[in-house]
Amino acid sequence: MTAKKMLMIVCDGLSDRPVRELDNKTPLQFAKKPAMDALSRHGVNGTMDVVGPGVIPGSDTAHLALFGYDPYAVYTGRGPLEAAGAGVALDRGDVAFRCNFATVDKNGMITDRRAGRIKSGTDELARAITGMEIDGVEIIFKEGSEHRGVLVLKGKGLDHRVSDIDPHREGRVLESRPLSPKAEKTAKVVNQFVKNSSAILAASRVNMQRVKDGLPPANIILPRGAGSTRALEPLTDRYGITCAAVAGVTLVKGICRIVGMDVPDVAGATGGLDTDYKAKADAALRLLQNHDFVFVNVKAGDIAGHDGDFRMKVRVVESIDMMLGIMLKDMKEDVVVALTCDHSTPVVVKEHSADPVPIAISGGGARVDGVREFDEISCASGALGRMRGMDLMPTMLGMADRARKFGA
Ligand code: ZN
Ligand code: ZN
Repeated sequence: MTAKKMLMIVCDGLSDRPVRELDNKTPLQFAKKPAMDALSRHGVNGTMDVVGPGVIPGSDTAHLALFGYDPYAVYTGRGPLEAAGAGVALDRGDVAFRCNFATVDKNGMITDRRAGRIKSGTDELARAITGMEIDGVEIIFKEGSEHRGVLVLKGKGLDHRVSDIDPHREGRVLESRPLSPKAEKTAKVVNQFVKNSSAILAASRVNMQRVKDGLPPANIILPRGAGSTRALEPLTDRYGITCAAVAGVTLVKGICRIVGMDVPDVAGATGGLDTDYKAKADAALRLLQNHDFVFVNVKAGDIAGHDGDFRMKVRVVESIDMMLGIMLKDMKEDVVVALTCDHSTPVVVKEHSADPVPIAISGGGARVDGVREFDEISCASGALGRMRGMDLMPTMLGMADRARKFGA
């Protein structure tokens, strides 16, 4: 058999619960979605506990599971995912943190954890504090959106098991403490970095101007969420496939980069409600021409869920359906296509929930069951039954005739 290509489409947080205003239907049940329903009709369906039954997934742990990793074994914190998303190249053993630019007073008390949600000048501040060396460890700092940034430590003898400097509320700045004897050096380096960078930030042109304008200066970096990428073997090595991703959100892009995917910037793919669905469809089709596996994430459903906006969620379903329609219509060959979600974000909950998500797979060796519609309830009677997120990638590889034989 010739190996088929694979396309995984993840509708972030689109899965939901019944909504009173939608005749007690879920947004997926209520919306018009001919392309999604066609995929269900021509394929095999089920529901999926993305991380595990009764576990509420974060988008990060969920995506690791969808790519076939055990999040309990490989997830060490959000730092590396954010850093990779911000375009910092990570090597095995590096330790990465998420950071805030914040405002601290003379007594070391944080008066604003987001430095007045600083909007400009953080690039200049980041350039002033990146590149220093402490104890033989190279320090890389890169600004993110608004008050956010990432810190990466590169060097020997590092360990991510250190406590946060960020107290997660206004008040005294914390010292990073080693949570394992192996992490003593790392804690020391982070503490020293915060000290060194504070002096540089306080004296910077950007902050002088902010004080003059009556704005809180961004005079301290607060690292948190330390993690390392030690345990992650890229998908390219693990399955011997070439991979690419179409995603707008920094965090999801970061995960895709870490697992070895090509992640081109797609004009119009914003990760917001205004994302360009047609641009995403075109990019995915283009990438399918020279990759074995293409992954697409659409964030908008999660945003509508967090906002508790069921009308918006119905519109997002219909927009994703339009995107899927373009992909299915213009697909030149037999591709194994999986459509699912990373978790539910029910509009009545306004947060992620542990509810299993619907899944449909068509093409290649996928069987055809009797399911005719793609939603949380219809898919539950499909032949995939109730599966785990970690099993999706091997399942797709099997249907694409790329699985390896075990035994004689
Ligand atoms: Zn998500
Ligand atoms: Zn969310």
